[in-house]
Amino acid sequence: MEGITDELKDSYDVVIVGSGPAGAGAAKALTGSGLKTAIIEKAPLPRDKMCSGILLPRALKFISDDYGVLPEKVFCQPKEVFAHRMYMSRESNYIEVPWDSFFDKDMPKVGFNTYRSEVDLWLCKRSDASLVDKCLFIDYTTDSDDIIVEVKHSGNYRKIKTKYLVGADGTRSRVRRSVSPEFEKALSWIPAYEEWYKGDSDLEPGFQYIFFETDGYAFLFHKDGEIQVCYIAYQGKSCKKYLSKFRDFLIEKHNLRIDKTTMTRGIMRSNMLALKKYLFGKDNVLIAGEASGIMEAIDPALASGKAAGQSVLKSLETGKSALECYMNNELLLFEKENAEKTVERIRSDLGFFWYDKV
Ligand SMILES: Cc1cc2nc3c(=O)[nH]c(=O)nc-3n(C[C@H](O)[C@H](O)[C@H](O)COP(=O)(O)OP(=O)(O)OC[C@H]3O[C@@H](n4cnc5c(N)ncnc54)[C@H](O)[C@@H]3O)c2cc1C
Repeated sequence: MEGITDELKDSYDVVIVGSGPAGAGAAKALTGSGLKTAIIEKAPLPRDKMCSGILLPRALKFISDDYGVLPEKVFCQPKEVFAHRMYMSRESNYIEVPWDSFFDKDMPKVGFNTYRSEVDLWLCKRSDASLVDKCLFIDYTTDSDDIIVEVKHSGNYRKIKTKYLVGADGTRSRVRRSVSPEFEKALSWIPAYEEWYKGDSDLEPGFQYIFFETDGYAFLFHKDGEIQVCYIAYQGKSCKKYLSKFRDFLIEKHNLRIDKTTMTRGIMRSNMLALKKYLFGKDNVLIAGEASGIMEAIDPALASGKAAGQSVLKSLETGKSALECYMNNELLLFEKENAEKTVERIRSDLGFFWYDKV
């Protein structure tokens, strides 16, 4: 789309891989520093992401503190999202879990329902980084103080030079794989598959419904007259098959009416957080957001991205490696501790954390 993307240059001070919240957070932290920064994104912009797009209270606070007021075009209906409603089994009634049981009392009370394509682009555009789409990170090597980044940009292979590299490239991070192929080999993968329907059900919009099943968990969410139904299977078996059975259950028990299936897609998630297996980078290569293994949500991605950007600045100021600065960054340490506490809290409330069964 015209006006969104910039030309790819031969060299930068900082290259950020990924235009999600972690990439946006890193770019925002570097804004005003004078460093020549690029966010490279493999997808055409604006890119969508498999997600319910609920900006939870903490993400809303982070965004209003660091980025300003979100424009109306990022929201979908119903705009306000009040809580999770959890069904511990198909037979049980739901338990409502309001956001303020997870977040501090000074946070907003409601979450907002958004389009990720719009939110993520808006966040990236609040920085002074160049934004280069259709640019796939392939690998990197080092040459004395330089990092040589191999990319495929609009079909052409290119090598670009940078001093710092930030991998904010999501769950299947290639930057993480380049930093440590051994680490990558030890990961387990959990498939998630979703379908979107035009239709209706007897579940009230404005809540995210989570159903704990024997083979995984599923959720249902309303967005602008469509219903998103997603299944996450613990054992890597066919998610589609589980979703199809779950769909039958919704039709029977919750009067799901499907007029049209508008989208189907899948994604893999890793169990890094459940095992406290993180990878935060190496030397002047940092890994932020979901790629690093911290909590899967928009707010930790924004915060760890910000921590990565701050660590690049600290590295320039102190002469220490970016990784050393990152590992001592207060925001990152808080995120890590907070994520671990949340997992433990879920384990104690539910008796398990969703990826314990992988
Ligand atoms: C089904 C589902 C529902 C969810 N719902 C919510 C929700 O409602 N609220 C919430 O807070 N969280 C939700 N999450 C979690 C949330 O989507 C993620 O935690 C968040 O997007 C992580 O942000 P990130 O910036 O780390 O990565 P991402 O948002 O995944 O961004 C990574 C970016 O990197 C790009 N990229 C990847 N590889 C390369 C490459 N090699 N070269 C160039 N670019 C590359 C990708 O295209 C992508 O744009 C959900 C997740 C799933 C799977």
